[in-house]
Amino acid sequence: MLHEVRVPRQVFSAAERGSLQSVAETVMPPSRRFPGAGERTVVRAEGYMGSIGKGAPSALRAILRAIDAAAYARHLRPFARLGPEQRLALLESWRTGGYVRRTALRALLTPLKMAHFDDAEIYRAIGCVYRHEPTGAVETPRWMTERVTRGADLAADEQIDCDVAIVGTGAGGAVVARELAERGLSVVLLEEGNYVDRREFSGRTAEMHAKLYRSMTATTTVGNTSIYVPVGRSVGGSTTINSGTCYRPPDRVLRHWRDDLGLTEFTPDHMAPYLDRVEAVLGVAPADMRHVGKVGDVIARGCQKLGYKHRPLRRNAPDCDGQGVCCFGCPTDAKRSTNVSYVPLALRAGAHLYTGVHVERVLAGGGRATGVRATTRAGRTLTVRARATVVACGTFQTPVLLEQSGLEGRSSWLGRNLSLHPATGLIAQFDERIDPFNAIPQGYAIEEFHEEGILFEGGTAPADMIASTVPFLGKQFMDVAEGFENTAVFGFMIEDSSRGRVHCRNGKSLISYVMNDNDVALVKRGIEILTRVFFAAGAKAVLPGVHGFDVLSSEADLTRLRHARLRARDLWISAYHPLGTCRMGADSRSGVIGPDHQHHDVRDLYVVDGSAVPSSLAVNPQITIMALATRAAERLAARLS
Ligand SMILES: Cc1cc2nc3c(=O)[nH]c(=O)nc-3n(C[C@H](O)[C@H](O)[C@H](O)COP(=O)(O)OP(=O)(O)OC[C@H]3O[C@@H](n4cnc5c(N)ncnc54)[C@H](O)[C@@H]3O)c2cc1C
Ligand code: SF4
Repeated sequence: MLHEVRVPRQVFSAAERGSLQSVAETVMPPSRRFPGAGERTVVRAEGYMGSIGKGAPSALRAILRAIDAAAYARHLRPFARLGPEQRLALLESWRTGGYVRRTALRALLTPLKMAHFDDAEIYRAIGCVYRHEPTGAVETPRWMTERVTRGADLAADEQIDCDVAIVGTGAGGAVVARELAERGLSVVLLEEGNYVDRREFSGRTAEMHAKLYRSMTATTTVGNTSIYVPVGRSVGGSTTINSGTCYRPPDRVLRHWRDDLGLTEFTPDHMAPYLDRVEAVLGVAPADMRHVGKVGDVIARGCQKLGYKHRPLRRNAPDCDGQGVCCFGCPTDAKRSTNVSYVPLALRAGAHLYTGVHVERVLAGGGRATGVRATTRAGRTLTVRARATVVACGTFQTPVLLEQSGLEGRSSWLGRNLSLHPATGLIAQFDERIDPFNAIPQGYAIEEFHEEGILFEGGTAPADMIASTVPFLGKQFMDVAEGFENTAVFGFMIEDSSRGRVHCRNGKSLISYVMNDNDVALVKRGIEILTRVFFAAGAKAVLPGVHGFDVLSSEADLTRLRHARLRARDLWISAYHPLGTCRMGADSRSGVIGPDHQHHDVRDLYVVDGSAVPSSLAVNPQITIMALATRAAERLAARLS
């Protein structure tokens, strides 16, 4: 089909393309059902890498040069001119070698593996839907068309006045917009991303990464290991690409805020009405087991045998029929992310939304915020003057915007206190069919170890993404891929005690995070527990994503893992819940903003997003952020009315 082929971006020279192809062919030889990698793999990967920005191709070019240098050092020939076994042996030495080489190899292979498995025939062979076509008409009411302006359509610089300017349309910003607009205040929402609707939610990984994620998902931390932390950038923010899991904040976390952080108001009773209101808008309910799929059955079976607490997750997708691509935009609008819930409600109540505008400055004078200045991609300027300004850019961008605007204030907390909920996923191989793909990707939970700080939740992804996480090379890699239908992927996150920092570098965020020994131990314990659950459910082998432990297939393997001294860099960590970089505190010594979300030193400036959450939350954060936003809006409205 024509639309499956992306136009190649010429980011590599012919020689570099040749080297890439020889690497791809070595890693992905033909197997029983699947074709081997070739020119087509490289063309697709090139298109993918080209969309990330200049940095990615340069980095991959350097890795290719280093592989060639290693080939010269060993065999006096470039990599492409080595025999197949020499090539495989060289790459295998990188895969199992030191941190820098194995990380570099993974960076090179991830787009190649993804590109190769981004293939309609392979999807068809394993029974996975390749492209989700829109069903039924998408109705856009007039009030919606009239109240959304694309930055690209601004013919000249523009200046407008309103009661409240809100930057960001994710969990924080969209909720504040709806609550204020419905109370009769004039609201202007500004969003850097585009308003993408379900007609474009094809479920295709690379396409959706480009349309819905910041930097094509290439957001990572620096520190003692590199953690992949994707965030959203479109109307709906990260809610558009999240898994739809809904947890209320645990009582013990609210107790910690009250007893240790001096945030005395945030009791469970106080928060309950705000949480109720959010859950009613989002239609939160337990996942329907018909659509949770076999991965849920497998986890339930294993937990049953071991006596662990387990249950379907609560989700904000009441009409979900398990299309399996929540993290690429829900193609049926079943998931009530803010792009289809709170933003339309805000617009219906009279708010105006500008999309494709980057807010580069919060305007301030005389100790108070007076609005924002944004630019469009074409260089037009949009100035919004407001009685109050709400910053809701998410945990990575909010501190950058405040610092760029010279609004650090007296608090030393801006950018600090970053928690992430480090997470990892395990791949389990069974002799039975699991068919993991066409079901809710994250529909089930093991809650037995939650008090210890480990929460097990699903995490299946489309076939091309799973392929990119399989660590092997050559036949060993293709053998795992051949068994995709019999594979279950499940993961967990931890309540981290490590803290990182967002630094502002030339208007961009640089994220540092050092994972402490406690958190490494917690991840190791989670891997052990989940492997045990998989074994109890009948798995024949588990790929734990741990350096030095490719496959666990027996109790003896688990014992070996338990006795190993793991470091952060031995684990394959990703994270989806950045929080805390503009934390709430009773005064400027303990936080950037107060309990009403107003900046301690800048009147009329509010921060209402994940960055305000003062501690690691121990649960998926969207519901907490939205409840806090509901409460913040109530107080702000009372002030402005
Ligand atoms: C893959 C994934 C899965 C997840 N799964 C879950 C889940 O199942 N359950 C759950 O509770 N949570 C989940 N989360 C986390 C949850 O979605 C986020 O915690 C939440 O959306 C954060 O809300 P926010 O308002 O802080 O930021 P966001 O929702 O990220 O919104 C910030 C918005 O601000 C915009 N913006 C940033 N800077 C500017 C600027 N300068 N100018 C204009 N606009 C700007 C961004 O483009 C973005 O749209 C997941 C996250 C990811 C990435
Ligand atoms: S699994 Fe459900 S919520 Fe997720 S994308 Fe599919 S229909 Fe939407």
